[in-house]
Amino acid sequence: MKRTARYETQPLNRDKWRELGLMVNAFSETKDTALRALARTAAWDFLDHPRQFRDQTKAHYREGVPVHLQDQAVFDAVHTMRRFVEAGIVSSRVKAKVFGRYSGEKHRYAFWLLKSYARLGSVLQGMAPVPEFAVPIPEQKEVVRFLRRCLRHALGSPPRVRLRRSLCVDDTLYRVFEHKGRQYVAVASLTPRERLILPLRGKGRVGGNVRIVLDSARRTASVHMPYDVRQPAQPAAGEPIGLDAGVTEVLASSSGTKYGPGYGKLLEQLSRVTNETGRARNRLHQLAKRAAAKGDQTKACRVRRNNLGQKKLRARRSRGEAAVRTIVGRAVRQALQDRPAVVAMEDLSHLRGPAKSRKLSRIVSRWARSALRERLEFRAEAGGSRLETVNAAYTSQTCPVPTCGYVHKDNRHGDRFHCPRCGWDGDADVVAGMNLLHRLDDPDINQWTPKIRVKVILMERFRRRKEPLLGTPLPAGL
Ligand SMILES: [Zn+2]
Repeated sequence: MKRTARYETQPLNRDKWRELGLMVNAFSETKDTALRALARTAAWDFLDHPRQFRDQTKAHYREGVPVHLQDQAVFDAVHTMRRFVEAGIVSSRVKAKVFGRYSGEKHRYAFWLLKSYARLGSVLQGMAPVPEFAVPIPEQKEVVRFLRRCLRHALGSPPRVRLRRSLCVDDTLYRVFEHKGRQYVAVASLTPRERLILPLRGKGRVGGNVRIVLDSARRTASVHMPYDVRQPAQPAAGEPIGLDAGVTEVLASSSGTKYGPGYGKLLEQLSRVTNETGRARNRLHQLAKRAAAKGDQTKACRVRRNNLGQKKLRARRSRGEAAVRTIVGRAVRQALQDRPAVVAMEDLSHLRGPAKSRKLSRIVSRWARSALRERLEFRAEAGGSRLETVNAAYTSQTCPVPTCGYVHKDNRHGDRFHCPRCGWDGDADVVAGMNLLHRLDDPDINQWTPKIRVKVILMERFRRRKEPLLGTPLPAGL
């Protein structure tokens, strides 16, 4: 599991800023050329073999830019493209769909295709790669058609370098040294044998592959270094828990505790600001457009420059996000404090669904979810707890009493949960946590069970529990 350490530099003087800008430009150009080449699905074989791609791209390298820096740009392009494909697989929920749709050899063939970038590339071209195991051709074609349909829709347009603001270097391209108590990073510049010296604000351990990111507002750069999270010596041994990601609080645990109060209010406030700003900016965009159409370029420019700048918007957004991160971080730390051996959670990686609450903007809720997921993965890993994704369908509508299990959406009244069948009463978010925990060892419902099937299973169970005497002979004397 990787985390990123960030080290900021002191503000850079004009010459250093300019040199770094030129390097980022050169890097971005090579990366963008590589991304364009990788956008063709026929080239996805290279995503499985980055070195071959590098060797082939070398012929088109730019003059006057260190070869090794361009190698890094090409590898970075491969990395970006791989993430693009992975994100498409996740957001299309293609794996869940395959589970629901196919079994036997078609199932095996579909997962075999999903395992390699080259095969996925062929699928997107409508071709059926031949597996090492036997699958009849018509079945192959059917699976390929299905995967292609799922993925094409989810993938969208391939990535390009839009903002030229970072570059990657490995440890042959830079070295770290200290001088008079200050730490420096010396990076190979575009001029042979000359290094660009970046003074750091603080001190830290810098090594391996790092990314240097420009911050033009402050004229600084920061060095981003990924590192492995150290595993604890002892795996966690606490009682397993179920955690429900909420909208009022960050998390509700099956043990009855809620973490991160004030979370819902904060998200609502952020949503409101995001929506209002968005609407106001749309009106201003229209205004500028109309002025430009009428030939009043001065006015159009003025509006764009004075009212539609990005600087303040970005600053406000990042303040809001920092506040969310703080509250999420604290909640997660507290929730996992007792080091549960297993944590049952819903799948937080599907970010395309609607917001959990209608009051929240989709942008905010999606972002908050991914912040929560990232934090949970980190904390669980660091504390030795195992995160288990379980099926979350109907977990907030099902009575948690094992002998009851009545499912109905009317069980929920705002924050309260009340079961009309057995009379159980409690907090609605905690109920979801309890049910998520039960799903850990549910014999019939796994992560991939379709929602509609989950409902049938739950209803069937409830019916069987309530009619234990059905089919058994009546006691004598009645
Ligand atoms: Zn009940």
